[in-house]
Amino acid sequence: LDNQKMKTFEEMESAVRSYSRGWPTIFEKAKGYKLWDIDGKEYIDFFAGAGALSYGHNDDVMQEKLIEYIKNDGVIHSLDMGTTPRKEFLESFKEIILTPRKLDYKIMFPGPTGTNTVESALKIARKVTGRDTVISFTNAFHGMTIGSLSVTGNSFKRQGAGVPLHHSVAMPFDDYVEDYDSIAYLERFLEDSGSGVALPAAIILETVQGEGGINAARMEWLKRVEEVCRKWDILLIVDDVQAGCGRTGTFFSFEPAGINPDIVCLSKSIGGIGLPMAITLIKPEYDQWGPGEHNGTFRGNNMAFIAATEALNRWKTDEFGKEIMKKADILRDAIESLIEAYPALNGEARGRGLMQGIAVHKDDLANEICAAAFKRGLIVETSGPKDEVVKFLPPLTIEEAGLKDGLAILEESIKEVLA
Ligand code: PMP
Repeated sequence: LDNQKMKTFEEMESAVRSYSRGWPTIFEKAKGYKLWDIDGKEYIDFFAGAGALSYGHNDDVMQEKLIEYIKNDGVIHSLDMGTTPRKEFLESFKEIILTPRKLDYKIMFPGPTGTNTVESALKIARKVTGRDTVISFTNAFHGMTIGSLSVTGNSFKRQGAGVPLHHSVAMPFDDYVEDYDSIAYLERFLEDSGSGVALPAAIILETVQGEGGINAARMEWLKRVEEVCRKWDILLIVDDVQAGCGRTGTFFSFEPAGINPDIVCLSKSIGGIGLPMAITLIKPEYDQWGPGEHNGTFRGNNMAFIAATEALNRWKTDEFGKEIMKKADILRDAIESLIEAYPALNGEARGRGLMQGIAVHKDDLANEICAAAFKRGLIVETSGPKDEVVKFLPPLTIEEAGLKDGLAILEESIKEVLA
């Protein structure tokens, strides 16, 4: 980076508490799976707005619909008022997503972010059960507010609260310790709950832990968690903020497990084009809030509804899911080849769908790979408790050629770092 550009970047960033120092440039334009900075340098995007840009940057159809709506003086912000975009979104979600999957949920607007949907889920679970504790899992990530942080299994992030966080018990996630039956442990804990910790209101989980290091739970494990919930009358909350909306190849990440969570949290890509939006799906019997018991100003963003409805249209047939899985196989094969070709990585392939990663088990190596990739024009992030995983979250719409180009840059970056 030339000095002038670096100086501009440093000046800009000195005004904020930021973590953008990993991407020391100023971006100007973005389309599909690519971004360009102010010097016209091109970047391939394997980060996709932390999963909020599954349909890529500036999707043509979404963009056109938004421009038309603004030009026609459409209502932009309307809180809980009825509007055409809100009606169309609700109808489409029911028709395209819920009905074909035989799922019966009420759709709630909890606020614009992933954290908002998690907070609402925790609140509902406590309200309907009258219980306090929530069970979460090691390395889980559910958000940054006091409630969502209390179920986040990352000690560094938890210390941001400054005081101990209550109401949560962390259990080992699937496979956290090899050859260890975490469900038996969970059941034993619940059987002994009389000895100290009261029966929980809910169990909250991600089917693939994103921030926690791309840890994918097995389908049998998810089924067993659901059985435990039914046996003990505990609500099952699936936080599908990152793994949902098609990221793993099916609209809901839990579909292949055949489970039926009581509450589902969606955000990130539900807004289609990157506009803030979240929804909480709740089984009708748990819709127990009276008017005004859970509200908030930014819940009726019609721009987000318009892009979101267009995004749902992509799910009218099985085609989109099939395309995702085809690209997921390309990504998995490439990851496995890299691990084999570069034993010094001591790498491990993780994840499913287009939510995958390479765990590298060596201090700072993942960060070094990401920094080298950035210089070569690939945007890729790390995850995991020690930043030990190079995490791939490309737009679901990425072309195969783009995926391969990005993977070629990744290989060059690995070579450079290991040299
Ligand atoms: N849950 C999960 C699984 C997430 O990955 C995230 C964000 N990374 C959140 C909740 C919080 O979402 P937001 O950052 O929009 O508040």
